[in-house]
Amino acid sequence: MIVMKFGGSSVANAERIRHVAQIVAPELKRKPVLVLSAMGDTTDHLLEAAEQALKEGKEAVSIDKIEALHLKTIEELGIPASLAQEELQPLLEELRDLLVGIALIKELTNKTRDYLVSFGERLSVRIVAAYFNALKIKAQALDAWDAGFLSNSKFSSAWLLKESWDLIPGKLHPLTDGGILPVLTGFIAKDMNGAITTLGRGGSDLSATVIAVACGAEEVQVWKDVDGILTADPRIVPNARPLDAVTYEEAAEMAYFGAQVLHPRAIQPCTKTGTPVLVKNSYNPQAPGTRIVAALDQRTGPVRVITSRKNVALVDIVSTRMVGQYGFLAEVFSEFAKHGISVDMVASSEVSISLTTDVANDLEALKDDLSRIAAVTIKTGKAIVTIIGDVRRSSEILHRAFGVCTGLDIPVQMISQGASKVNISFIVNDTQAVAVVKGLHEDFFGGERKEECKK
Ligand code: ASP
Ligand code: MG
Repeated sequence: MIVMKFGGSSVANAERIRHVAQIVAPELKRKPVLVLSAMGDTTDHLLEAAEQALKEGKEAVSIDKIEALHLKTIEELGIPASLAQEELQPLLEELRDLLVGIALIKELTNKTRDYLVSFGERLSVRIVAAYFNALKIKAQALDAWDAGFLSNSKFSSAWLLKESWDLIPGKLHPLTDGGILPVLTGFIAKDMNGAITTLGRGGSDLSATVIAVACGAEEVQVWKDVDGILTADPRIVPNARPLDAVTYEEAAEMAYFGAQVLHPRAIQPCTKTGTPVLVKNSYNPQAPGTRIVAALDQRTGPVRVITSRKNVALVDIVSTRMVGQYGFLAEVFSEFAKHGISVDMVASSEVSISLTTDVANDLEALKDDLSRIAAVTIKTGKAIVTIIGDVRRSSEILHRAFGVCTGLDIPVQMISQGASKVNISFIVNDTQAVAVVKGLHEDFFGGERKEECKK
């Protein structure tokens, strides 16, 4: 078995879905399971429709854009119109009712939001499965909960329960063994009470790796709209280039620190079994893509990828107690835990600790509580720049990175070298992040590129 995951842009319209079929057809002998995202930007459009319903009330409820895209796609793919009637219309009606409900109650909880965005994936799998059937490739659309995805009730970022690991293969193996192509919704699950949950934005990557590991698949293919994992965000560095292979550790750090690679939790299941993940471009299937594997045979250069993440807050906490006090760090972290705020980077000295977190968190309440034990300053408008590389060469990486910052006259405000030993991160102002990433890329990869050009 293999798992093939197609992201939103790979199933964005009829033409893209035809490409999906061309990519899947030659793999049929490997018993694929398909995992899909919502078509194109449907998830965003669903969220926008809810915002509009909230703000402007029942009269403003509209799913025209969403309905038009899906119905047009069915028509263009030549799928029998009965599909629209029997399978899509009831979902669209339920969606419209839900939006009216949101408009009336004037409230959008995480639970309701999960239910709302689930329609995107539920619509896309039905269309794609019907298209395969029209091509005489036997396929079956499945909502994740009908394929064993059972989660906790942490709406908007749910975790799968361990029962899922047995349920999923029990549901999928009979289909693939029977020559049927399962087409599953990524991203969503149900909790023990039957309420729909989601695994967090971009969560269909995680759905795919969970299926692969639970079913003992030989490989996970993640089909996106770029040629694999790139050395930097191509919107910042236009000449960023794809990497042949990266390790699980590197991929996890990249996802977490801002590279648009994979859902941050997606790699974790694979580390149990060593299942390889292949990131490919559905717009350019000939490109070799990037393999994500447990370990690499050989390394090239000190740096693999340069990423950045904006909207970070830097929290400086200076103990008001005497030097040599124990338990300070424990107290600080217990406040973060109490407020449910996760910390990204940490640097500490005897009496002070600096850490970073997402600005979206409620930092004022945290500050009040921390102020009992420390003087606290919160600075927003910061960015984390992360260099994923070979930390055995950390001195060289740091030397060159600080050379770049010095050259740009940009002061580094905090630094940490991740314990996972592949990550060096530092803080600069939001407004400086682009210049730093460009400068670092030129320094670490520019020479390589020039040499390639010379050949
Ligand atoms: N459709 C969801 C999103 O846009 C899940 C996914 O694409 O993985 O975040
Ligand atoms: Mg999407």
